[in-house]
Amino acid sequence: MTISPAPCPDASQLLRRAGARIDPADAALLLAHALRRSQAWLYAHATDPVEAAAAAEFEVLVARRAAGEPVAYLTGHRGFWTLDLAVTPDTLIPRPETELLVEQALLRIPPGRPARVADLGTGSGAIALAVASERPRARVVATDISRQALAAAAANADNHGIGNVEFRHGDWWSPLAGERFDLVASNPPYIAAADPHLLQGDLRFEPPGALASGRDGLDAIGAIVGGAPAHLAPGGWLLFEHGHAQGEAVRALLLRAGFVATATERDLEGRERVTGGRLPGPAGVD
Ligand code: GLN
Repeated sequence: MTISPAPCPDASQLLRRAGARIDPADAALLLAHALRRSQAWLYAHATDPVEAAAAAEFEVLVARRAAGEPVAYLTGHRGFWTLDLAVTPDTLIPRPETELLVEQALLRIPPGRPARVADLGTGSGAIALAVASERPRARVVATDISRQALAAAAANADNHGIGNVEFRHGDWWSPLAGERFDLVASNPPYIAAADPHLLQGDLRFEPPGALASGRDGLDAIGAIVGGAPAHLAPGGWLLFEHGHAQGEAVRALLLRAGFVATATERDLEGRERVTGGRLPGPAGVD
């Protein structure tokens, strides 16, 4: 009697099995990653046998996902705007709602003209790189307190051939002393330090310094607003992403610091998510 080796499972069988343990959409991302292929390729080859090495790598990824690790840290990248960005556990994972901040920034940066733009706390570089890619004549400065995050962001700029972003290390405004900008955008940490969400799900794996900011979550936004009048050109804009219950507080902080034209935009879920204001004076970008 001959014993034939167990046939290699195909992609659809692996996905079905994994789908019982983790979100099926996550399983598809992880299998495509283990195969070094796109998801489109995966679906077109659903009945091809999967090589043992790739299947074994996939099993490890599924187990890590089942234990809570975010998919973007397992695959090492995440799509944001038009860019595929490398992410590491030193960077916040770019989120779809942050694309609203990019949209709002672009509305205030006329194309085809020079503009000075800054992204404070750039993380993987998501906001800075999206803006820089859409506004090649803008000069963008991206800062972060984490050197590791800056290295990841700079690598993303290189990978995409985006040359109009400069990376600087330091806390909020400190790397920008003596300079003024037409528009500054930031997705700073804004979760309240005692928020139980920090102890749940994917947030447990992200850099705490990129998520939580003081008792009410507003410490970083307050610090950035405080330094903004000294770093914006007359008519310059300051735009934040913030928590869905923080719109009123952020507008109040901006008004108290002398900003005008304060307004809040809602994200795709209808929640207040991005607030901005302009310094009075001749509009630099308006
Ligand atoms: N939007 C993120 C969350 O609530 C928080 C990101 C941030 O603090 N900037 O999961």
